[in-house]
Amino acid sequence: MSNLSKVKGVGPKTELLLNKIGINTIDDLVTHYPYRYDVLRRTDLKMVKDADEKIVVDGKVESIPLVIRFRGGTNKLNFRLSTQSGMVGVSIFGRAFLKQNLPIGEKIIVIGKYDSSKNIINASDIKFGSLTNQDRIESVYHSTSGLSQKVLIGAINNALMTYGNSISDNIPHYLLDKYNFLNKKTALNIVHNPPSYEKLKEASLRLKYEELFEFMFKINYLRSANKMDNAGVERKTDKNLDEFIKTLPFELTNDQKHVLDEIIDDLSSSQRMNRLLQGDVGSGKTIVAILAMYYNYLCGYQSALMAPTEILAVQHYNNIKELLKDTPVVVELLTGAVTKKDKMPIYNDLKNGTINIIVGTHALIQEEVEYHNLGLVVTDEQHRFGVNQRSNLKNKGIKPDVLYMSATPIPRTYALTIYGDMDVSIIKEMPKGRLPVITKVFNNKEMKEVYKLMEEELSSNHQIYVIAPLIEENEELDLTNVYTLRDKMNLIFGNRYRIDIVHGKMKPKEKDLIMGEFKQNVVNILISTTVIEVGVDVSNATMMVIFDANRFGLSTLHQLRGRVGRSSLQSKCLLISDKDDEKRLKIMESTNDGFEISEEDFKLRGSGDLFGTKQSGDMTFKMANLRNDYKILLQAKVDSQDYLKNKDYDNDELKRRLISSIESD
Ligand code: ADP
Ligand code: MG
Repeated sequence: MSNLSKVKGVGPKTELLLNKIGINTIDDLVTHYPYRYDVLRRTDLKMVKDADEKIVVDGKVESIPLVIRFRGGTNKLNFRLSTQSGMVGVSIFGRAFLKQNLPIGEKIIVIGKYDSSKNIINASDIKFGSLTNQDRIESVYHSTSGLSQKVLIGAINNALMTYGNSISDNIPHYLLDKYNFLNKKTALNIVHNPPSYEKLKEASLRLKYEELFEFMFKINYLRSANKMDNAGVERKTDKNLDEFIKTLPFELTNDQKHVLDEIIDDLSSSQRMNRLLQGDVGSGKTIVAILAMYYNYLCGYQSALMAPTEILAVQHYNNIKELLKDTPVVVELLTGAVTKKDKMPIYNDLKNGTINIIVGTHALIQEEVEYHNLGLVVTDEQHRFGVNQRSNLKNKGIKPDVLYMSATPIPRTYALTIYGDMDVSIIKEMPKGRLPVITKVFNNKEMKEVYKLMEEELSSNHQIYVIAPLIEENEELDLTNVYTLRDKMNLIFGNRYRIDIVHGKMKPKEKDLIMGEFKQNVVNILISTTVIEVGVDVSNATMMVIFDANRFGLSTLHQLRGRVGRSSLQSKCLLISDKDDEKRLKIMESTNDGFEISEEDFKLRGSGDLFGTKQSGDMTFKMANLRNDYKILLQAKVDSQDYLKNKDYDNDELKRRLISSIESD
């Protein structure tokens, strides 16, 4: 359902503001759930001892509010209020405009702090109405400047009132009955205006279940579609991959060998591969993928490697070229940064089959690109290959095998569920000769020690990554930014080292240039935001320094740390944090095992960090949380499987709708 502007109270200006926070349809609006609830419970003023305690009282206005105006434009409103705890003065800043809404006798709720010596409430907020003996639960929403809570709440409730009955419900009728679930409109209404905790719990359960049901239906559908799909290419070759493996500068680990076997089995079978390759940063996934692509080449098919960023695409391209330099394999690079003129010959060579391996970003699966016989697609880091993208290729008459590489170690049970549509291979073993990275947590007062350790590393001609959360100074956030940090470090190291910056807002060309210089050891310290989070490989970089480390989830920190420790040199990771977050960060000191860290992260933060927006767009839920709601997920998995398989429901409007939404995804 679209057309937000139909909602009462949503004019063109409000519509734009709503769009700004991702609300584009009426469905989006009614599922813009509160991110927090405030509880208003009447305070007995006689019991207040601490002047800093937050208090809530309700009562009647007893005197006409007096407005005091100060120089500089501020103002103050003073009036008396009769409450259950007696008469009290109320004083609030900046609300002169409320005066006409506060006639004598008006019932209001006042929130603030109570000064018992003066019998005055210094109010921070005033609401209309009165409290009952039950807690009043107030919804608080994420918004944007210019869009007040009041307008947002009004829009949501108007939309619910007018369109609530036509909002689609994604739970089949028989399951609604089975679990005695509330209907959709009622549940939405309760979540936005909770009458009680019990009701709120009941309504959220239903909405969580619905999200997870829909999600698991999708996973189950994809899995069965893949299983039924025998249209994969059956590859056979009498040429020997082992010959090539012998030319590698190192021996494969046992895990690598095992995983490679699994992949080659997939490629050789007529069933289409849909496999997730999980392994810590540096565990050697990429080399396995390259070997798979080489095998695919031996069998006479093209391969594509898709990376999430330009930097990574370029790095993969260079690696692959280097590794395959003594073979006749033709490798090319295709990213958004390649000019139109340069793209044309690449398009041609993909179409006529001259190119064997193409490396790039999403440009690889755009409309214009035609392949001669694409047999294998490898995607690096978390990009689930959308069904849409798959069907893009399908329409061109190709159904390649797909290998997903992910450096996000997810606890196995969760992986089996949320990647239920894929087979999962895991590399646990690190290549031989790697020294575990030494990690240490510092606070801002220990910076001297940090700079000393940095100097030690630099003076042995090793390089350093520095991570800071912000690009530029930001008034609202008191965090380290890359530019200020560079100036500071130039001062500290007396301009003896070359320090440069990479961040997300730079043009790909600029980034590539600086990354190139870092790779060649021209740049000694590379300061960046987390754009380098994934995959970058510079083995002479032996130190990772992360500012405001408390801002990051453990899994992210672990991935960042994986940038170092990529050679036989001893590497170090320094985490700087001023917040009381040491216990959590100490976990980083104690282990280098990504799976262990992911378990801890899961326990501590829930799934947010693991499955954050960057990990995969299709795994973020508005209401459900994979850790807390794991049981609901399991139930939804079973139920959605039954629903999918049971032919009696094949004519259900809902089932058709769910399937068609997956296919057009
Ligand atoms: P990942 O993709 O899992 O992060 P890579 O495949 O990039 O890991 O491997 C990291 C580094 O380790 C690369 O420089 C690669 O050449 C090297 N490497 C991979 N496998 C081995 C191995 N079995 N022995 C030694 N070095 C290896
Ligand atoms: Mg196959």
